[in-house]
Amino acid sequence: MPEIALSKTYDYIFAGYGAAASLLILQLHHKNLLDKLNILIVDPERKNKNDKTFCFWANKDEDIVKDLKHLIKHSWSNVLIQNAGNTPLAPLTYHHISSIDLYDELLKLEKSYNWDRLISAVDKVSSDENGAFIIAKGEILRGKKIFDSRTPIYEKTKAGETHIFQSFVGWEIETNRLIENPDTCRLMDFDVEQKGSTQFMYVLPFSPTTALVELTRFGSEILCETAAEKQLQDYIHKHFGEFKKQAIEIGCIPMSNAEIRNDTLKDVVLLGARNYKVKPSTGYAFKNMYHHASELVNSISNLKTPKELNVEHAKAPTGRFAFYDSLLLHILKNKPQNGKIIFQDLLKGVEINTVLRFLDEKTSFSEDLKIFAKLPWSPFLSALFYKITQMSWFRPFILMLLCLLLIFLGKGTFLQSIIGYGLLITGLITVGIPHGAVDHLIETGKWDSKKAPRFILTYLLQAAAMAFLWYLLPELAIIIFLVYSSWHFGQADGKQWGFSPVLSFIWGVFLLFYILGTHMKETNSITSIIGHLTLPIAFPSWVIIPWIIWSIIRKQASFSLTLIWLFLSSQLPLLFAFGIYFIGQHSITSWKHISAHLKLSNRKIWLQSLPFHTGAWIILMLFIYFYPASKGFNVQDTSQWGIFFIFIACISLPHVISMQSLYTKKSD
Ligand SMILES: Cc1cc2nc3c(=O)[nH]c(=O)nc-3n(C[C@H](O)[C@H](O)[C@H](O)COP(=O)(O)OP(=O)(O)OC[C@H]3O[C@@H](n4cnc5c(N)ncnc54)[C@H](O)[C@@H]3O)c2cc1C
Repeated sequence: MPEIALSKTYDYIFAGYGAAASLLILQLHHKNLLDKLNILIVDPERKNKNDKTFCFWANKDEDIVKDLKHLIKHSWSNVLIQNAGNTPLAPLTYHHISSIDLYDELLKLEKSYNWDRLISAVDKVSSDENGAFIIAKGEILRGKKIFDSRTPIYEKTKAGETHIFQSFVGWEIETNRLIENPDTCRLMDFDVEQKGSTQFMYVLPFSPTTALVELTRFGSEILCETAAEKQLQDYIHKHFGEFKKQAIEIGCIPMSNAEIRNDTLKDVVLLGARNYKVKPSTGYAFKNMYHHASELVNSISNLKTPKELNVEHAKAPTGRFAFYDSLLLHILKNKPQNGKIIFQDLLKGVEINTVLRFLDEKTSFSEDLKIFAKLPWSPFLSALFYKITQMSWFRPFILMLLCLLLIFLGKGTFLQSIIGYGLLITGLITVGIPHGAVDHLIETGKWDSKKAPRFILTYLLQAAAMAFLWYLLPELAIIIFLVYSSWHFGQADGKQWGFSPVLSFIWGVFLLFYILGTHMKETNSITSIIGHLTLPIAFPSWVIIPWIIWSIIRKQASFSLTLIWLFLSSQLPLLFAFGIYFIGQHSITSWKHISAHLKLSNRKIWLQSLPFHTGAWIILMLFIYFYPASKGFNVQDTSQWGIFFIFIACISLPHVISMQSLYTKKSD
């Protein structure tokens, strides 16, 4: 292997030398675009094993078939579909390429061009003012263009995203008896136990006596060899009788619509799985990668120099097919038992050519509707409902409807009070108080009996200090309360909408004073009692309009809708306006941040919050009973709710401090 010179700058560096890089190099070679180029290939694997079976369907006139004809090992013109029998695929054909044939072809090119090859992992792909570079084996190697097809790393799934696996164990077998119709492949035969996932068999006959029989699983759990063994054996015996196992294929493809961790770097082109070329709902990628390579080769041949090639910014696919994929992934993850019936109905009810065009994302919307009409509706409807509820605009939209309803019911009416206070109390019990009752978990993630007593004591002392300050200097206490509330509200909202810390604080101040200032009379009736302070001027409700315009420019529907319902809430009593913000926006948003940090389900967090949550209510009762200003407390009298706000101020001080540590951790 030629020595790698530290200072050498290559024309192209291929970080990763798998299918995507191979397909690109082949096409560049066919167009004579590799002559006189210095090329470096870096991959930790030698690529001398047959590790994958690449299958794809195509029309005989398609370029992929013409270009890769010499590599195509087997082709099938019919498919056997369970309950639908033997079906011709024409005009399509299902093709198979062994990965080793592709790698061997590349090895020949590598030798004839005399490229450099480094058997090593690339530790970093980056770029600076001098261009793009990689770091491998501790050395910096520069490339005018770097093609990065290293195995992707997926970000943690966000709401509405799903990450599962297509895992498979396949045996290449030799049978004693002749395989009927060796030009017929079997796709998705569900005549196997589902084992809590979606499982099926593929059979690809290579000759009248040899075939690849593969058990495939769609699901969260990866199929292992031992788990597949009995099912493969039973299936093969049932369909082909006695057999000899010749080779094994084990693989796993992420089925994911989560984001892939990628930096947008000048002169770095992302390829293959790293550039979202794997279709999330099927795991097929080969044809997508071929087409992507063709696009790149066209750009390179038009521009002539690699330096001019446009940098691509890989983005997760959007659009209707990505949406269909996300629905199916959701079903496969959460109701895997529905997978079998969905795929069976699809293959039984829809012509196979249409199914394959649909999977190639080539069908029209009206064809899509006809396909959906053949599928069971309820799993898709429930997945759709779930998706909608996870959309960022959904919660503010519901809060907007709630504001409209309360306005419609009329100020101070019996119905408005029943519904408003009912929701307020329910919200406080379910999320409002509990979201601040899991601070003990933020540090360690679990109940730590050694640290807990100190934590609780500090917590109570901080709360007591605030109560004491309020008792001594209510003016100062209320100002401090308003400042840390603005900080805290702004912090949670700012995280949600991607604001900087300064903007978050500005937003927090505006928001709090908007709610208070648009209810000046009620606010002053409370603050004058609990803090001996009043707001000097009222806020007209229209002052929110610049924020609305800005949110529209930012194209943040959830922010725009929040501003709209805040605007509407200026027409509601103060307690409802503040309660809707505190519970519907702040507590739920913070809860989501906490649950992402703790990686616990909502139910578990709520249960873990219960002792502190209960404690908080007990302290509130004692507070109301003992606090001097609470004598004769009357729920109907808004001004007397001040007692409740003092209580909130006391218990929220330690909570704000805890959440500050969580948010600083998150942004590390
Ligand atoms: C077993 C299997 C069978 C498949 N069958 C099909 C099929 O029939 N049809 C289809 O359409 N799709 C199929 N796929 C999906 C897809 O086509 C393949 O995963 C394909 O290999 C993806 O190409 P790629 O170049 O992105 O990744 P790969 O081919 O996996 O290549 C990535 C390369 O990067 C290297 N690498 C990883 N980390 C580093 C690093 N840090 N530095 C340098 N190099 C690194 C790896 O060693 C590897 O060589 C299959 C996938 C698997 C796993």
